[in-house]
Amino acid sequence: MDREPLTLRPDEKQRYLRQLAMADWSEEDQLKLKGLHVTVMGIGGAASSILNNLLLLGVGAIEAIDHDVVELSNLNRQFVHNVEHLGMSKAESFEIYARRLNPHVKITARQLRIDETTVRTTLDPHTSVIIDTFDKWIYRSMVNRFAVEHNIPYLMAGVVSNCFYTALLRPPDTPCLNCLIGRFQNVSMGGTFQAAIFAINILPIAAMGAFSIAELIKYLKTGEMTNLFYFGSLYPTKQDIRFFTFFLSKHFKKISEEQGIQWSPAWESEGITKLKLSRDPSCRVCGNEFLTRSSVL
Ligand SMILES: [Zn+2]
Repeated sequence: MDREPLTLRPDEKQRYLRQLAMADWSEEDQLKLKGLHVTVMGIGGAASSILNNLLLLGVGAIEAIDHDVVELSNLNRQFVHNVEHLGMSKAESFEIYARRLNPHVKITARQLRIDETTVRTTLDPHTSVIIDTFDKWIYRSMVNRFAVEHNIPYLMAGVVSNCFYTALLRPPDTPCLNCLIGRFQNVSMGGTFQAAIFAINILPIAAMGAFSIAELIKYLKTGEMTNLFYFGSLYPTKQDIRFFTFFLSKHFKKISEEQGIQWSPAWESEGITKLKLSRDPSCRVCGNEFLTRSSVL
């Protein structure tokens, strides 16, 4: 972390003039943002929206990780990349984008495939928050375990069809990802849906980027988690959300039903659905047994 006392330089004050003018935004808030080191998993579509918001708002440092290269079929939504960067690693492409957009933000971008080993050797256990935009639940489960073990706030953010979802998690104040989406442990089931072309456009991604980073800002300002899960639907049409509903845990389905939500492929809604979250006491990642064991060690 940056050891120098944080201040805003004159050109930063000018850059952030309009947000500093907001009634609910102070220089102290801006300095809290500048003090953040944010780790973003994935540099694809969902991440484009998130990274863009982080850069424009003015966080201090971003570390972004993705193993892929830029392809033409990415460019309907992955706007941190462009046609001049086809074939380039997404990490390098993002670094160029970030430097042009806001040179005050320190950028570390890595081209790296995540597995059980690289999660532990690459991720910084002192990072302020991990934002997970991976589209494979098995990758997310590894990142979630790392976040729980190191007590790092974990912001899950994703899109499915014309919908988006997000929640800021850190047990024991909130559940962990495994409490909510527990079936990704079965890798072969994960592959069934993830092999197909993932249907998506920019609109739910744009909405998700705003809602998810707003959760981070609320936490930054208050120091408390809202413990809410947001599910946003852009159109009142039937949504193909199998990718999402198939993996929901029994615990999440139960708390959803208690709050009047029945997740199914025929889910039809418009606007924002908010669910109050709770931990699954039997969760294999953050359950009581795990937390007790951690406190003893
Ligand atoms: Zn859990």
